[in-house]
Amino acid sequence: MARYTDSVCRQCRREGMKLFLKGDRCYNDAKCAVVKRHTPPGQHGQARARKLSEYGTQLREKQKCRRAYGVSESQFHKYYETASNMKGVTGENMLCLIERRLDNVVYRLGFGTSRAQARQWITHGHILVDGQKVDIPSYLVKVGQKISVRSDSYDVPAFKLVREQGADKPIAKWLELDAPNLSGIVAAMPQRDDIDLTIEEHLIVELYSK
Ligand code: SF4
Repeated sequence: MARYTDSVCRQCRREGMKLFLKGDRCYNDAKCAVVKRHTPPGQHGQARARKLSEYGTQLREKQKCRRAYGVSESQFHKYYETASNMKGVTGENMLCLIERRLDNVVYRLGFGTSRAQARQWITHGHILVDGQKVDIPSYLVKVGQKISVRSDSYDVPAFKLVREQGADKPIAKWLELDAPNLSGIVAAMPQRDDIDLTIEEHLIVELYSK
């Protein structure tokens, strides 16, 4: 995946909403760039804030979702293709698939303050799935699987904090956290209602199905 090297706050400003890409800083409005500056970034940001065409609206919705989860365009399109071959509502299926990514689950369990940090924990080998190291952030979890932090990593300050104080935000109801043991169980498949992101997924489906 091509790495985005510019300020991540610019992505929030571009989409006009908090995408929670920076961890703890995102919960402090005094420090959040999108709260302080409402216009899209760049010299012509004000002009970009004008009314969008139908295509523009669909495109922005897709970018918003893709950026929130930190997924590349090609990966994101694959989720759409997989979802469109599943029974049910394509947009909902697509979101639920992305929600099952291991980096998202590690983030949702509170082991990472952002999906980017969760991704780093995974690629650096700190995370186990059913006792086996999995270093692929896009790995899709299944019901019944146990996601845990490798015991050798318990002393990492971020993990120590979760062990001692529990998660700093509510845990998604399809996951069960065992904070003292730094592990979590996938209790059910995520449903659309479990996903707190403000996304109109039908716009993404309309964009891709053109
Ligand atoms: Fe987005 Fe967080 Fe930056 Fe605010 S602080 S603009 S929510 S990444």
